[in-house]
Amino acid sequence: MRNYLIAGNWKMNKTPSEAAALAKEILPLVKDADYRVMVAPSFVCIPAVASVLKGSNVIVAAQNMAGTESGAFTGETSVLMLKDLGVEMVILGHSERRHIYGETNEQINEKVKLALSHGLSPVLCIGELLEEREAGKAESVCFEQLEKGLVGVSESDMDRVIIAYEPVWAIGTGKTATPEDADAIHAACRKKIASLYSSSVAEKVVIQYGGSMNPSNVKTLMAMENIDGGLIGGASLKADSFAELANFNK
Ligand code: PEP
Repeated sequence: MRNYLIAGNWKMNKTPSEAAALAKEILPLVKDADYRVMVAPSFVCIPAVASVLKGSNVIVAAQNMAGTESGAFTGETSVLMLKDLGVEMVILGHSERRHIYGETNEQINEKVKLALSHGLSPVLCIGELLEEREAGKAESVCFEQLEKGLVGVSESDMDRVIIAYEPVWAIGTGKTATPEDADAIHAACRKKIASLYSSSVAEKVVIQYGGSMNPSNVKTLMAMENIDGGLIGGASLKADSFAELANFNK
C-alpha cells in the first residue's frame, strides 16, 4: 500500500488572514484522515498557515521555489526561506509554471534536486496539453517530463519524490480524465520509473492525479490501482469539499 497524499494547491487565492481562516476550518475536519494531507498556500500566506497547522497532521507545502539557494534573484523565494517557515514539501513544474511562465524541464530538475538536498519533498508535476493528447503524445510528453525532471536524482532520494500527473486540459476546466485513462498514464509512468530506477522504486512511488478532482469523482479515481492521491486546485479552496476529499475512504 503506497503512502497516499491528498493535497490542496491554493494557487494565487486567499489573503494571509483568509488562508489562516481556511486552515483553521480544515484542521478539525481532516484530523482523523487515514492518509497524508497537504496544503500549498501562496508564499506570503505560508507563515500564517504554518502557525495554524503547527503540530497537526496537515503538511505545509509551497507552490514553487527558486532553483538556487540565495543571491541576486529579485522576486524569487529560496528553499532556505521555506525550510525556515516549516515547509516540508514543494510543488514543482506545475503546468501553470511551465506554460504561463515558461519553466523548462531543466529548470524544474534543478529545483527538484535543490529541494531534495535540503530535505524537502518535491511534488514533480507532469502532464500533456490537449493537442498533445489528441496527437497521441500523452505518454511520450509525460515520459520526457519525468526523465528530464529526475536527472541526477538518486534511487534513495526517490523515497521523497512525489509525482503528480495532471493532464493540462483537465486543470480548472471541470473536465476530468476518466479513471481508466488516468490510470493508464499512471501505470505507464510507473513502468518508466522502473526503467529509470528499479521495480521496487516504481512500486513505492506515489503518483497523484490532478485535474478537476472533486468530492463526486474522488472515490472512482482513488479506486484505480495506480492512483495514489490527488493534487487539487478549485475543490481545495472550501474546507468542506477538501475535507471530503481527504476523507474519501470514509
Ligand atoms: C491544479 O491546479 O493542480 C489542479 C488540479 O486544479 P483543479 O483541481 O482546479 O483542476
